Amino acid sequence: MEATIAATSMKEVTNNAWKKRPLIISGPCSAETEEQVLATATQLAKTGKVDVMRAGIWKPRTRPGSFEGIGTKGLAWLQKAREITKIPWAVEVATAKQVEDALHFDIDVLWIGARTTVNPFSVQEVADALKGVDVPVLIKNPINPDLELWQGAVERVAKAGIKNIGLIHRGFSSYGNTEYRNAPMWHLAIEMKRRFPDMMLINDPSHISGRRDILLDVAQKAIDLDYDGLIIESHVDPDNAWSDAKQQITPARLAEMLDAIHWRKEDVDNKELHDNMEKLRQQINQLDDELMQVLSQRMKVAEKIGQYKKENNITILQTNRWNAILERAYAKGEKLGLSKEFVTKYFDAIHMESINHQNKIMNS
Ligand code: PEP
Ligand code: MN
Repeated sequence: MEATIAATSMKEVTNNAWKKRPLIISGPCSAETEEQVLATATQLAKTGKVDVMRAGIWKPRTRPGSFEGIGTKGLAWLQKAREITKIPWAVEVATAKQVEDALHFDIDVLWIGARTTVNPFSVQEVADALKGVDVPVLIKNPINPDLELWQGAVERVAKAGIKNIGLIHRGFSSYGNTEYRNAPMWHLAIEMKRRFPDMMLINDPSHISGRRDILLDVAQKAIDLDYDGLIIESHVDPDNAWSDAKQQITPARLAEMLDAIHWRKEDVDNKELHDNMEKLRQQINQLDDELMQVLSQRMKVAEKIGQYKKENNITILQTNRWNAILERAYAKGEKLGLSKEFVTKYFDAIHMESINHQNKIMNS
């Protein structure tokens, strides 16, 4: 009887947490020992800033041999921590058995990890195990930048009858060393938000950064982009964590970080501000129209060149000319305050469109 009452009130706590903005989720990458779970949880609770705790119980590791999670016995530690802190727990699930075990231990929130979202068979297995269950589910983006897979996972879980679904943006993996462990590719998360405007979108700066020194920058960017919350890995002894040691922070550091973030509002009630913004937005619209006109003219000129190339049977791509265009653009861009990264993307897009226009001419 006591357990049922506790379960009911935790449902309420979880439902309230789900609606809170910003929603803050934190806890260790992995549950390692009972002491580590209890110490991390009590320190997190003491900050008063954490709405939901997280811990990996089953860890999908890219290669075998590293710590693959403590398994089901760790769920009892989470329960114990919850009795002390009254804060709900979230756990990653990747199989029907894991869903079953997590629910058996009254885990409050489930999440689907990046390595699961990529696999429709696995997502469907998890979704089937969730039929008839009332539990919120967070869905991480797939490890590869494929929005259809992310959307597909949302649809599978929704079809299973889950009402509370949220999105976690944890970045996308790529080959080789980059600034990030997983490139954020913010535009993909923005597109996902456009497709699911009412769905909670949470940022995971820990797995995007892979290290501590840029966590705050990534988190701030997410808040500037109107994300609904953050999921950040924390550990009582980050350097000695059994997984993801480089990116975890202490509960005290988490509290500092959350204090350092400039929290933004989506809008404010101020007529003068709105009028001023409106005027500037009109200017932006005008400039966008002009840009489109100029781009269209540019394509018409490219088509004329395409005609000459066709008549003389020469290739569309002429590498020397393309290099010359880029060099000019970089030099000009630098003077005009446009980043090299932007100029590259912009000219790549223009170049591809130009090639497509010439291709049509060549093959007509
Ligand atoms: C995690 O949250 O610890 C995790 C394994 O993340 P991801 O699925 O984003 O790699
Ligand atoms: Mn992790």
